[in-house]
Amino acid sequence: MNEVPLAAWAATEERSRGRRFPEKPAAYRGEYQRDRDRIVHSTAFRRLVYKTQVFVNHEGDLYRTRLTHSLEVAQIARTVARALHLNESLVEAISLAHDLGHTPFGHAGQDALNGCMREFGGFEHNLQSLRVVDELEAKYAEYPGLNLTFETREGILKHCSARNARELGELGRRFLERQQPSLEAQIANIADAIAYNNHDVDDGFRAGLLTLEQLRSQQLVGEQYEVVQRRYPDLEDRRLIYEISRRMIDKLVTDLIENTRANIESLDPRSIDDVRSQVAPLVVLTDEVFEEHMSLKRFLSKNLYRHEKVREMTDKARAMIEDLFARYMAEPAAMSPEFADSVAAANDESEKARTVSDFIAGMTDRFAIAEHERLQ
Ligand code: MG
Repeated sequence: MNEVPLAAWAATEERSRGRRFPEKPAAYRGEYQRDRDRIVHSTAFRRLVYKTQVFVNHEGDLYRTRLTHSLEVAQIARTVARALHLNESLVEAISLAHDLGHTPFGHAGQDALNGCMREFGGFEHNLQSLRVVDELEAKYAEYPGLNLTFETREGILKHCSARNARELGELGRRFLERQQPSLEAQIANIADAIAYNNHDVDDGFRAGLLTLEQLRSQQLVGEQYEVVQRRYPDLEDRRLIYEISRRMIDKLVTDLIENTRANIESLDPRSIDDVRSQVAPLVVLTDEVFEEHMSLKRFLSKNLYRHEKVREMTDKARAMIEDLFARYMAEPAAMSPEFADSVAAANDESEKARTVSDFIAGMTDRFAIAEHERLQ
């Protein structure tokens, strides 16, 4: 249904800044479709199925994993892109790649690894996603990584410190010049936030960590609860929460499309450069809905991510990452051979630590648990 021509300010292959290593075009696929396919075929993508957002992977089969999260992000982002005549293939590629650099054990894993890497430049999952597609995937004979287009890489790098931006050359420039990425990148970014807020409500409720009474105190949830209750007064909780959740996503996505369309109309851009040169993003919710969304985010952070039951798990996860890091630093040969070899070739302690951190970041939850057990 993509018959509608793309907007003049959409990212297109004709205007692409290209790949790091030039390649001939594919016969039947566009460049961003090709990026998406490379991402789907990557090792890091397959591992997302065994990595978690909030719950540790083995705790239940019904919770979201990073893989299903990434698919939900792509689905939301594609709807928004299509409605705004932007590049659907590009938003899909960015969405599917956005979490490739995540450590095992969700946020707890990332915090722990960042702590371990403090003296060596830190660890940031966003930068790691870029590192996965640029360096760590080893699949092609002629180059490291997946050799994705500039626009997909730009979308993966959502944020970045000034110090890291300076090292990233063209890709880092927008952080130093306070410019924006493509609208496609902006869409993938906010689709991520919409997806996790909503699925964490669902997962948290089904795990019994959040109650309907608590959730109803949130404007976004409460107003949809009223709508569903009025229409289906006898609905059981499982269906009720889903009927609420789908309406919440619809409200957010509709608000996002309409507000962004209005922002674009008032800017009246002529090209993608007009979009990039803005100080603030154009793909944003209205202030009112954004506040409701942020309030739900704060609520989840307090009541779900820091729930006693979740913390028990995250405390264990943190300790496991710290143990693994210390162990591999002391005994690099305990890692897989290619990582052990890279440590042997490292020039200094910092390169060594980066290799150890790459090895740990690539682990699935269950592999990290098994490795931790093996090395006890
Ligand atoms: Mg995400």
